[in-house]
Amino acid sequence: MDVVIKNGILVNAAGKTEMDIGVEAGKIVALGKNLSGRKTIDASGKYLIPGGIDVHTHLETVFGGSQTADDFFSGHLGAIAGGTTSHINFCFPDPGQSLLATLANWQQKVRSKSLIDYGFHLVIREESHLEELPMLLEKGVSSIKCFLAYKDTVQIDEELFFKTVEKAKEHGLLTMVHAENGNIIDYLVKKALAKELISPIFHARTRPPELESQSIHFAASVASMLHAPLYIVHVSSTKGLEEIRRAKERGTNLWAETCPQYLFFTEADLERKGHTPGLEHFEGAKWICSPPLRKQEDQIALWEGLLLGLIDVVSTDHCSFHFLSQKTRGLSDFSKIPNGVPGIEERMALLFHYGCNQRNLPMEKFVSLTAEMPAFLFGLEGKKGRLAEGYDADIVLWDPNKRRILSVGSHHIQLDYNLYEGFTIKGGAEMVMLRGNIIYANGQFSVEQGNGKYLFRSSYKHSLNHDAKS
Ligand SMILES: [Zn+2]
Repeated sequence: MDVVIKNGILVNAAGKTEMDIGVEAGKIVALGKNLSGRKTIDASGKYLIPGGIDVHTHLETVFGGSQTADDFFSGHLGAIAGGTTSHINFCFPDPGQSLLATLANWQQKVRSKSLIDYGFHLVIREESHLEELPMLLEKGVSSIKCFLAYKDTVQIDEELFFKTVEKAKEHGLLTMVHAENGNIIDYLVKKALAKELISPIFHARTRPPELESQSIHFAASVASMLHAPLYIVHVSSTKGLEEIRRAKERGTNLWAETCPQYLFFTEADLERKGHTPGLEHFEGAKWICSPPLRKQEDQIALWEGLLLGLIDVVSTDHCSFHFLSQKTRGLSDFSKIPNGVPGIEERMALLFHYGCNQRNLPMEKFVSLTAEMPAFLFGLEGKKGRLAEGYDADIVLWDPNKRRILSVGSHHIQLDYNLYEGFTIKGGAEMVMLRGNIIYANGQFSVEQGNGKYLFRSSYKHSLNHDAKS
C-alpha cells in the first residue's frame, strides 16, 4: 500500500473505532489492524473522518448583479483548510440559455482553477429547461434547483415548480428548493422602502418566517402529491422546521438542510454597530442572507433539529461579497445589499466545536451531516462520504485539540471580513487527503490548480435502492 494511517479513531456515520486505513492509487483499499505500507502517518489522538462535502456553494457566481468575492481557487483554498474536499456549486443559466450550455460554461470556468472535487446543480429558470432534464444524468448531474423567491430574477411560478418536480422524478433527479414566498416578500420590501425603512434590519422584517414555512408547506405538498423526492435548502426557522417534521411524518421523501449562519446568529446581528468610519450603522449588512437570520428560539430549534434527525445536512450557502466594495451598494436601500455570507472554510470546525464539544452532538452525526448524507443524497455514494474500502481516499485527520481564533487575518477565502470574527474554536483539520494525495498538512498547502475532478454523480435512486437492500 502507498500509505497507511495508523492509530487514529476512524469515524463514519455508522460508528467509530480505532483502525488503520490503507491507501493505494487514490482509494481506500484496507481497514484493519497492523497494516503496513510504504509510508506511515501516525494519527494518535486524532480522528479520521471522510473529507467534508459542501453541497450548497456559490463560488464565482454573479448574483443580484454582483460577482461573488470568492472564485473557485480562493473558495477551494478555504474549503481545504477547513477539511472539505468536495463541493457542489449552483449553475445559473442566463435568460434564454440552455442547461447544457450553462453546464459546459461552468465546467470550463472551474477546470483550470480547481483544487478540490466539484459538481454542479443546475437552476431551472424557464419552461424550456424541462426538455433538457432527461439529458442531465448522462452529464453527471443528478440534482436541480428551483427558487420560489427572488421575484423578477430567478423565481419560478408554482406551475413550473410542479412540472419540474414531476419531470425530475421521472428522470431520476432530486429537486432542491429555495422555499420562501417571493411575491409577498417583494410587496413587503416595496412597502418598507416607500416608508424609507432602508437599514439592514428591514431585510429580516420583510422576510418573516411564515413566508418560509408556507412555501415549504407548498413544496412539500407537491412532493407528497407526486411521490417525488425533495430537498429543502437552508431551513432557517422553527416554523419552517415544523413543516419539515410534518412532511417527514407523512412519509414524504423529503430532506432538509441548514447552514452555520442560522445556528450562530440572529436578526439582532443585522443591527450591530461596527467600527468602519462612516459605516458604523451598516455593519449588519455583513450578515445579510436569504432566508434572513431569525431569533434565538429558532436557533435552538435548529440545533434540536440536527440532534433529532429532522435536518439531514449542514452545508454553507457560501456566497461571499466584500463589505466595503460590494455590500455598500445597499447603503441607502437594504434590498440592494448583495445577499450572501461565507462559510465554506468554517463549516466543519463550527459544527465540531459548538456541536460535538458543546452540545453532545455525536461524532458519527457530525460525519453524517457534513459528508455521508450529502454523498448519499447527491449521487456520490460508493465514492465519497465514507471511510470504507473502495471509496476515494478523501481523508481528514482531525485534531480535536487544535485551538484557534477565527479571523479575517487568518482565513484563506478572499473576503474583507470574517463572519465569525473572534470565535474561539477547538478542533480542526491537521491533514487533508484528496484521492490519496496529501493536499494540506499543518497549515501548508501542497496542491496545484487543476487538481480537482468533476464529480460525475448518479441518481438519488441508486442510494435509496442500495439502502433498502443493506
Ligand atoms: Zn444558496
